[in-house]
Amino acid sequence: MSRPKRSLAAVVAGAAVLSLVTAVPATAQQPAQPATGAPAAQKCSDEPQDLPVHEFTDHRELGVELQRLERVSGGVVTVDEIGRSNRGREIWSARAGHGPKAVLMTSEIHGNEKTGTDALLRLLRFVGTSDSPKAERWRDELTLVAVPKMNPDAAELDRRGNDMTWDEVVQQHPQLADAEPAWNYYTEQLQGDDYSQRPGFDINRDYNPDLAYEPKAEDFPGTSADTGWYLSPETRAVRDIYIGLEEEFGTVDTYVDLHHQGACYVMPDDPDRFVTMSLSGKFVDDPATTPGYQQYADEYDLDYAKQLNVAAYNALQGKANNNPLFGNITLYPQDINLPGTGLGSFALNGSGAVLFEVRGQTQTLGQKYREQLVRTVYTGLDGMLSSLASGRVDDLDPSAYDAIPPRGPSIGDRARTVAEP
Ligand SMILES: [Zn+2]
Repeated sequence: MSRPKRSLAAVVAGAAVLSLVTAVPATAQQPAQPATGAPAAQKCSDEPQDLPVHEFTDHRELGVELQRLERVSGGVVTVDEIGRSNRGREIWSARAGHGPKAVLMTSEIHGNEKTGTDALLRLLRFVGTSDSPKAERWRDELTLVAVPKMNPDAAELDRRGNDMTWDEVVQQHPQLADAEPAWNYYTEQLQGDDYSQRPGFDINRDYNPDLAYEPKAEDFPGTSADTGWYLSPETRAVRDIYIGLEEEFGTVDTYVDLHHQGACYVMPDDPDRFVTMSLSGKFVDDPATTPGYQQYADEYDLDYAKQLNVAAYNALQGKANNNPLFGNITLYPQDINLPGTGLGSFALNGSGAVLFEVRGQTQTLGQKYREQLVRTVYTGLDGMLSSLASGRVDDLDPSAYDAIPPRGPSIGDRARTVAEP
């Protein structure tokens, strides 16, 4: 089933909004340089460090807060355990609203990317407890389902990958006894973490647009341009939630996945301004022209993903006058083809897919800009959900997405060692 076709009427003030980008002054954290000053480049490093993260919500605290929210919201927010991680930790979903548009939101699939979880909790607090007309409209028009900290094992290790071993995979999927380990199974150093002592997976390559897929030995080791396998209990739990929403709503209208990128990307026109967040709605090659993917072409709706991203972008630009950091928003590189990501797989199933990549993973920034980055994520989500709830998203011009400035270069002193998102 498809959503009703959206109007492509171009009424967004995209161009006017975009002009704000170049008008934004140097940011608070990178003060304006003296004319002869040294470039800010020297002040950014991707070198992994051991930094505090205790201000972020950990797994235990998440459970406590979700229970509290269910209670204080009087049942507006309902919390369910949707599965257990490989190490037996609870994976929770929190649902609010009773509207016809289903919105699935996930965070912390990479355990060193933590702001999304805190932003989702703020969002659930708002929609669960506010009696404002805005919250009421969200509840009437949307059904929000959040899976915060969907990869609790990686989150507790504060690293990108979980610690599921290949032996454990084979125990759970005995048909893989003779298969080569998957390409996204980490066994070496990465981002300051030693996977040789504790190997594990980047589970954001474990999705498959065939939601009924079961792992087959001949599909291994695979590549980043291939689909994944639903090897991990975490991706299976999210897949099952997605299938349930499809059964209930026909199409999962929107899927949002919350990430962090490198710490040292700068604006394309200003090396003194770090990128606060990059956005994207494009994760796979066009299924209409990609062999093996044509069955997804009818559902796939890139223009809708663009409209959702424009709604988030406009909301952030609207706040840039108060805080210039909200103006430092760029488009994530568009030349990626990652059908094994949640975003890629669910986009192929017809969801408008939205990626947020805020600045800096925990090994480079720790909790340093936590509040600011959580507010950035929250503001983007708020704008997008408000536009969805009002229906104005359908009037946004997809081409405004293509006019979002591209991400500038990384000025860090160390090359990126791992693919994003
Ligand atoms: Zn990530």
